[in-house]
Amino acid sequence: MKKRKESMTIIARQEHGISRKIMSQNALRILYRLKDNGFVGYLVGGCVRDLLLGREPKDFDVVTNATPGEIKRLFRNCRLVGRRFRLAHIHFQGEIIEVATFRSQASNEPEPDAKEADEAELRQRHPRMLKDDDGMILRDNVFGTPEEDALRRDFTVNALSYNIADFSIIDYTGGLADLNAGIIRTIGDPDVRFQEDPVRMLRAVRFAAQLGFTIEEQTRRALVAAADTIVRSAPPRLYDEMLKLLLSGEGAKCYDLLRRTGLFAALFPAFSSWLDAESDGFPHTRFGEMLGYVDSRTQQGDKVSPPLLLALLFGQYIDEKAERFRRQGSPWQQSVDAAVAEFMGETCPIVMITNRVGIALRDIISQQMRLKKIPGRRPEAFTARHDFTDIIQYCRITRGDKKDVAKQLDWWAAQAQQQGPVPVPAELTEETNAPHRKRRRRRRRKPNGKSGMEGM
Ligand code: ATP
Ligand code: MG
Repeated sequence: MKKRKESMTIIARQEHGISRKIMSQNALRILYRLKDNGFVGYLVGGCVRDLLLGREPKDFDVVTNATPGEIKRLFRNCRLVGRRFRLAHIHFQGEIIEVATFRSQASNEPEPDAKEADEAELRQRHPRMLKDDDGMILRDNVFGTPEEDALRRDFTVNALSYNIADFSIIDYTGGLADLNAGIIRTIGDPDVRFQEDPVRMLRAVRFAAQLGFTIEEQTRRALVAAADTIVRSAPPRLYDEMLKLLLSGEGAKCYDLLRRTGLFAALFPAFSSWLDAESDGFPHTRFGEMLGYVDSRTQQGDKVSPPLLLALLFGQYIDEKAERFRRQGSPWQQSVDAAVAEFMGETCPIVMITNRVGIALRDIISQQMRLKKIPGRRPEAFTARHDFTDIIQYCRITRGDKKDVAKQLDWWAAQAQQQGPVPVPAELTEETNAPHRKRRRRRRRKPNGKSGMEGM
């Protein structure tokens, strides 16, 4: 039975398909303890959405009317975190559950009903939300009601709550209808919501791609209009968000949406123009192929490391840069270093790839040369490198279809498995693989015209 209370819909336990059996038992324990101590406790956000869709949630988030201090007193395994907003992390073996106090997204203006509000409520509701001149939220730290907590969320499908008190679902925003129709729609005015936090545009793209949903028309128009403003978000956050998109298992779909909405060109302007152009009369198709490859790997549950991901996606672009440096006279190694540095220099002001990942990316590309030297100096040290698998995989995926490369890779695979030396087939010896090796100096002839070996 559905009850409508003002703008709220409650879907009773028997009306929805969520069973407690498929929930995190730790999250349930937390909800029950909150309830037993007289507090309200809901599961919220992505986990409710995913449970309703029959997908396995990535994480379980709990909201409550208990304050962070009260949560801490209830749970021994609790740590309070967060500067912007105090959250409780409840630690279990192999799982951390986030428990947050209901919060609101108040405006900058003083609340009109502030005088009427009672003392206790006022103490809880410090008007500490701060927006910059362009309307972007800089800080929001205001306790609120369950409804306010739902309304501050990004999309209607992400604002559903599961109430432990009666096992019902509470819907303040029409999220259930949108979930059933497969629609991503911002809560409230999409222009305002994307202005407050441009990262929401990337989240809209990710959810649409991941869930196979469509972005509602008004939301989509606002997104296209605001696409350029994505660069106002913090570069480290954009990097994290891009990784989530590209490693979502639907990276190709995400890219397609990013491109059609103008977000991709805003995030990667230089790379995007390169991708649109041709090299030597050929379009750049590898990027698309690599997205497909990464998707198939992630869908099978395999992990692709961020440096390998970046190498696969941007390797061809970086190789072209390196080739330019090489033609200007730099040695190979230095050309790759300079190319990766140039790539980082143009990307990081918008999407902040960490230095550690940048170095690992450079290593994957520059170590490709080493693979050709068989056995080379100390092959066992090479196979023991922490990034050996990424180096090999990069080679296999980008050049593995060539016969000689496949043979080299087989040799390295054998070398990696075996402790001792692995015989080198004649066609793979360093001699045949290293055409630029220095010639051995000829022995000088003795003045009498006889070689030094003679007469020994
Ligand atoms: P997933 O974890 O599967 O990537 P999710 O929806 O759970 O998806 P989280 O990043 O875990 O995403 O965030 C949890 C919830 O917090 C969201 O469902 C949403 O309600 C809210 N939320 C997250 N980011 C924002 C944001 N930028 N603006 C508003 N609400 C947000
Ligand atoms: Mg989540």
